[in-house]
Amino acid sequence: MSEFRADLHCHSTHSDGTYSVKELIVLAAELGLKGLSITDHDSTAAYPKAFELGAAHDVLIVSGTELSCVHRGHGVHILGYAFDPEHSAIQKWCQQAQNARRQRNESILRELHRINLSITEEDLLEANPQLKSTTTRGRPHIANAMVAKGYARSIQHAFKSFLIEGCPGFVGWDRGTVEEGIATIHEAGGLAVLAHPHIVKNGSIVRDMLAMPFDGIEGHYARFPLDKERRWLDEAQTRGLLLTGGSDFHGAVKPGQPLGCSWAPENTFQHIYKHMHEATES
Ligand code: AMP
Ligand code: FE
Ligand code: FE
Ligand code: ZN
Repeated sequence: MSEFRADLHCHSTHSDGTYSVKELIVLAAELGLKGLSITDHDSTAAYPKAFELGAAHDVLIVSGTELSCVHRGHGVHILGYAFDPEHSAIQKWCQQAQNARRQRNESILRELHRINLSITEEDLLEANPQLKSTTTRGRPHIANAMVAKGYARSIQHAFKSFLIEGCPGFVGWDRGTVEEGIATIHEAGGLAVLAHPHIVKNGSIVRDMLAMPFDGIEGHYARFPLDKERRWLDEAQTRGLLLTGGSDFHGAVKPGQPLGCSWAPENTFQHIYKHMHEATES
């Protein structure tokens, strides 16, 4: 029998991925994935459609999202699973985050305009045809337009030279705290997981995160080798936290992270799947 693989981290066209919900689920089925969670940034728009498509294509689906939070001025991503996507707490979070992002994105375009890099709404739509069905716009959409207009050689170049902290197009934004993010997921009946701890560079932020009431850690991530994952697998085990995993697949925007390149162990998936069904049946 083939190994049970469940990719618990990927993005659709509802946020900064380039595959639709249907394309993701069809691809997951083709790859032989048994389980999937679509974790759009500050959005649950993939649901309930993902549940219906999962049933049609024999892929088990758990609800998911990736919340953009802040802790002492640093961005931290939290994955939420097995919550009720219609719950008012999660809906309120997504609404607020999408509004704050809209303002931030407009400020980024103003800052870029000041250095004579002009990007219009038409440019954004032309470079990102999927934007019509997007609930959460982000920097990758701006990066795509910068490449299309010849302002950057690649998406990486656009980020490194213009869009990350310290660059002329960087603008901070008003995100909820990590404590608020975890509480929101719990209020909606879900499980909160610290996303990709491997890429949180500041050691004191990591220490703070490990003291927060997370239910799990994303120990298996993208194409990270085992020696880079080891610490997080050990942290999950010693702290009795769920060990999750996923590719963080975004389609064409991040070509080095194909769907299914990381996955959660079967026991983790079954725990999360059961949690979701118990929560919705009670
Ligand atoms: P935002 O949430 O709008 O601030 O954009 C952050 C998103 O941009 C992340 O979730 C990634 O999908 C993407 N991203 C961040 N840094 C890079 C990078 N260096 N290259 C490509 N994509 C990136
Ligand atoms: Fe993203
Ligand atoms: Fe992330
Ligand atoms: Zn992600």
